[in-house]
Amino acid sequence: MVWKVSVFEEWRRKISTIKKLESEICDKKLVEEAKSDWHSRRRPRPCGLTIHIGVGCDYACSYCYIPDMGFPFKSKPYHLTGLQIAYSIASNPYVALGLNGTFLAYGSVTEPFLKNTANRTYEYLKATTRCLGNPTQISTKAYLTYDNALKLRRLVNGKLSVLVTIITLKHYDKLEGKAPNPELRFQTLYNLKKAGFNPVLFLRPIIPGVNDYEIKDILEKAISYDINRVLIGSLRVTLRIMSKLKALNIPLREIEKRILRKPKSFNEQVPVKTADIKKKIAKLCEKLGIKIYYQACQVCAEDFNIPCCLPCSIKYGCCKEDINYDVSEVKAFLETIGKGKIRKVVDRKYVLNIEGNVRKEFTLFLRWVLKKKVVVK
Ligand code: SF4
Repeated sequence: MVWKVSVFEEWRRKISTIKKLESEICDKKLVEEAKSDWHSRRRPRPCGLTIHIGVGCDYACSYCYIPDMGFPFKSKPYHLTGLQIAYSIASNPYVALGLNGTFLAYGSVTEPFLKNTANRTYEYLKATTRCLGNPTQISTKAYLTYDNALKLRRLVNGKLSVLVTIITLKHYDKLEGKAPNPELRFQTLYNLKKAGFNPVLFLRPIIPGVNDYEIKDILEKAISYDINRVLIGSLRVTLRIMSKLKALNIPLREIEKRILRKPKSFNEQVPVKTADIKKKIAKLCEKLGIKIYYQACQVCAEDFNIPCCLPCSIKYGCCKEDINYDVSEVKAFLETIGKGKIRKVVDRKYVLNIEGNVRKEFTLFLRWVLKKKVVVK
């Protein structure tokens, strides 16, 4: 299948969605509140735009860095309504909408299915699916019944990329004692699969010297629940996390050996090197017939069948298909809508090179629509 996009068409989709949502919300104050919200101005991360369905998280995992970002271990639902969040995202100048649009990621600084956040999650998913239609991913540690999974499926018209985090069977009490136990999370995977999703086991963080010894057991258990895809990821630590793990008698030797550098402040996040462990997991997955992913957006692109040639796809060799577009149309778009002075636009396999002056929001908008790196000189 040839995947063709028109930047003008994608821009018109954005403008008409904003207008439609404005008239649906039908209250100036609510529109203004959504317009001034963080979702309307934050630059998406390389993997997509994170959506806050709540603030804070009750699970209080020992390795979690949300307190270091200023969020408490106590959840409350986000204050915007579903329509407001959709409007806020649509108004974000960096964000493209629809199936060709920016990936949306639910569940980054909270758990989406807590008592305090679940209804917001359902409300937001319903609104963003209906009004925006962007590829969307959610990650959870909650126990979802089969009925919950069916409800979710109805709200998103069957289309959602779902990650379920399970990182340990042995150290669960110390590391994630307030979250549902791993058995219940395997049941969540099973229920989601039965409801028609194709969920992925989310094995992040790999904690060297702690859970890397039980990865085989986790993968084999996943297979027994008919799960054959896994997303892996590294640990990031702060000094606060290190002292918390120490207080819990979690062995720190391997982490200390592999930490990239000493954090400069109490809450600075520093990655822990796990490349060798990831290689071993990849080999194991090959043996077990499990498909492995290294980036959440890889899973999202595959689940929504979107060709993507952004740098991480290239790095992991999953950019198979190019998006087809008209280079002269891109130039015209940047000159008319972007009001830039453009000398040249050159399309290369993995990069779009632009010579001229382009505002950052248009660079990022293009990046998402074309799913390739955009370099402006
Ligand atoms: S579930 Fe996620 S957000 Fe919540 S405490 Fe654990 S790691 Fe942090």
